[in-house]
Amino acid sequence: MYLSLATTHQPATDLGFLLHKNPARLHETELGFGKAFLFYPEVSVERCEAALVLDVDPIELVRGKGGADGLLDQYVNDRPYAASSFLSVALGRVLGTAMAGNSRERPELAAKALPLEAMVVPVRSSEALIRTLFEPLGWTVSVECLPAGYAAVRLSGTMRLQALLSHLYVLVPVLDDDKHYWVGEDEIDKLLKRGGGWLETHPAREMIADRYLKHRRGLARQALARLVPEIEAEADGDDARPTREDGMESPLRLNDQRLEAVVEALRAAGARKVADLGCGEGKLLHRLVRERWIESLIGVDASAVSLLRAKRRLKLDVATGPSPDRVRLMHGALTYRDKRWEDADAAVLVEVIEHLDADRLPALARIVFGITRPRTVVVTTPNADYNVLFASLPAGELRHPDHRFEWTRAQFRDWAEEIGRAHGYGLDFGEIGARHAVHGAPTQMAVFRREAA
Ligand code: SAH
Repeated sequence: MYLSLATTHQPATDLGFLLHKNPARLHETELGFGKAFLFYPEVSVERCEAALVLDVDPIELVRGKGGADGLLDQYVNDRPYAASSFLSVALGRVLGTAMAGNSRERPELAAKALPLEAMVVPVRSSEALIRTLFEPLGWTVSVECLPAGYAAVRLSGTMRLQALLSHLYVLVPVLDDDKHYWVGEDEIDKLLKRGGGWLETHPAREMIADRYLKHRRGLARQALARLVPEIEAEADGDDARPTREDGMESPLRLNDQRLEAVVEALRAAGARKVADLGCGEGKLLHRLVRERWIESLIGVDASAVSLLRAKRRLKLDVATGPSPDRVRLMHGALTYRDKRWEDADAAVLVEVIEHLDADRLPALARIVFGITRPRTVVVTTPNADYNVLFASLPAGELRHPDHRFEWTRAQFRDWAEEIGRAHGYGLDFGEIGARHAVHGAPTQMAVFRREAA
């Protein structure tokens, strides 16, 4: 099996620093089931390409050195040839540093989106599945059909090298729908580690987890519950699974106060067409739909389960409910450009940013403030200064298991002001909920106003 990785970033030879593999040499790595060779078929300033070739030894496989189950039947089929979990193991062993996003000589390049191309061959999978897996991640995909049901897959796009390697690490075994070794709970950790930052919003994440974990449903459920906690609540059939956040907040009815504060900010800004980004179960949309000054509402969320609940809450499925022109829900990821909500004059992110990994926030900010540029943007997030006042919250812990961070007022202000400067937005800050003299209010809000060009 053969994987090539190429870039046209200039100087393209920097690829050697990113992969931690000198382009002038042939690199050979001994793996339990055979050998991996890495070499560079093309090295120039304009384009540089590295090839990883696996030579899987069928005899080693049968001896069981790969720690595999049921290998005897595989010995007579395509296991040594088709791109599969062997390739992921090789990626981990040969390109582990690059896959962790590190580069000693070029750390800034490792963190940057670069023009990348990859080819994997041969893949035992349909073109439709290949597209379903890679296109939502932003790759331009081309598939060449080869004899006997195999395909060559080509990906191109502008992305971090680490992202490309993580996508391949997880998705090649998913395409192959098999694993050469026993899959246990530690496999969940691998999936979450490599899938972090993209798998949670992938439209096919259930199928990916199911196939990656070799159709062991219990494992797939655990993985999804850790990846996207609201799914767990759904699986339990528990409509209002109390989280620590709910328990702490309920005496304050903080949620209602938050909605009112956002509605008032939108009204004051003269908003007419509102996009609720990360709308969840549609509480804000439900509150806004009865406001006459609202012309149209769009709710976007990555969770299909939440969108279904929002649909029910908003009565979009009954004849007497709001017209589809006025209220629309859409499945989408906020870290990718989405023209469907670009005509909104106001965007709202209510308790959403803290659900994104910190390294995905710049992508969100670029889409919202750099590309879409609605006139008004309202953002709310927990105020971490206030956490010391929650008796039930151990010091240093977050209010909700899915929060990736909670910011102090100073951190939120820094983030918002930086965005305001970079993208030309003026700012007002607000506090929501009962205010403590020292620690402030439980929720903080920023209202961004686009400055005249
Ligand atoms: N705004 C809602 C929900 C907040 S919970 C409310 O206040 O009730 C955060 C929501 O953001 C979840 O519904 C989650 O699915 C969504 N979300 C998190 N990251 C996302 C992403 N990258 N793209 C789209 N939605 C995302």
